[in-house]
Amino acid sequence: MAVKNILITDRLSESATRQLEAIDGLKITRSLSTQPQAHELLGINAMIIRSKTQITEKLLHEAKQLQLIITCTSGFDHIDLKATNKWGITVMYTPKANVESAAELTWMMAMMMSRQYPKTQDLISSGRWNRESAMGFELRGKNYGIIGFGRIGQRVCEIAKAFQMNIFCYDPYQKNAIFQRYKTRHATIERLFETCDVISLHVPKTRKTMGMIDSRLFSVSKQNLCLINTSRGGVVNEEDCQKALEMGQLQYAAFDVFETEPLPASSPILTESRLIKTPHIGANTIDAMERASEMAVEKLLRFFQEGTTSETLPPKDQWYFEDVNSESP
Ligand code: NAD
Repeated sequence: MAVKNILITDRLSESATRQLEAIDGLKITRSLSTQPQAHELLGINAMIIRSKTQITEKLLHEAKQLQLIITCTSGFDHIDLKATNKWGITVMYTPKANVESAAELTWMMAMMMSRQYPKTQDLISSGRWNRESAMGFELRGKNYGIIGFGRIGQRVCEIAKAFQMNIFCYDPYQKNAIFQRYKTRHATIERLFETCDVISLHVPKTRKTMGMIDSRLFSVSKQNLCLINTSRGGVVNEEDCQKALEMGQLQYAAFDVFETEPLPASSPILTESRLIKTPHIGANTIDAMERASEMAVEKLLRFFQEGTTSETLPPKDQWYFEDVNSESP
């Protein structure tokens, strides 16, 4: 094959990079930053990216040779799919690579909250030992709510079952057969807030999901609810969440994702001690990075050597088409 110029804009495992570099006919370049300038795309045939690389119409304008973008992520809201479609660029993603890591981070958060970890750290660092002020709760027999029952939601459900929790799901797009397979109950979102002790969010970023968790739901939440967002920033209204923590409508919240990332130093939630915060590390494990890198290399080679594609974007999901169609002209 004629030489193909590949631009890597973010982390790719060493072994995957070595594999690409060893192939005759591929020229591998690393971009100067995770957000390359348009001139860096001149003559580039394929890009391997992650979520920090925004693919915009403006960026693609100069990328006349670009045929393929592979994102090593499960989310894809960093890519303007209308623009890639307009320019005839194939886009593939690695949605299965990060499932385990995102689900395990969710469970780390659930367990930190159920055993009052933030409070215990406060006790330790201030030299107090009054355990009575940090009484936790067992997970077994409690109610767990899952919002968004896709790949990650289903893995979170499997782990909740190991704890013998009662599981309730809210996902208006998911097939009944999937709920049946996991022996879970489908419920309204209000019911989840009224009955669950822990709720976690695993929805994509769409017009419908932005701000979907707000004061209306906090006002009906079960006492001592713990809320987890490892999906996308903005799905939970941060201001309303902070008020709910202050008013005791929520016991704890844990966010891996924020309305603005990186979280600004001026953000009022930065100092909220009952909000556990991690810097968008859902997929940040060696295992997920290596898995996504291997998948990306395989997809790239199949595309150029065999002309085949897999896990292409846009997805075929109903929620995606609803979202695109609801876009104002
Ligand atoms: P998925 O597409 O497999 O599942 C998403 C589910 O959400 C689908 O079942 C869909 O029907 C449902 N959904 C869509 N709109 C909804 C709505 N309005 N109300 C309720 N449910 C709705 O996606 P996934 O791979 O499970 O990933 C879930 C989310 O996690 C994505 O936003 C992804 O970007 C995010 N994610 C974050 C990290 C991180 O680093 N924190 C890592 C991986 C994935």
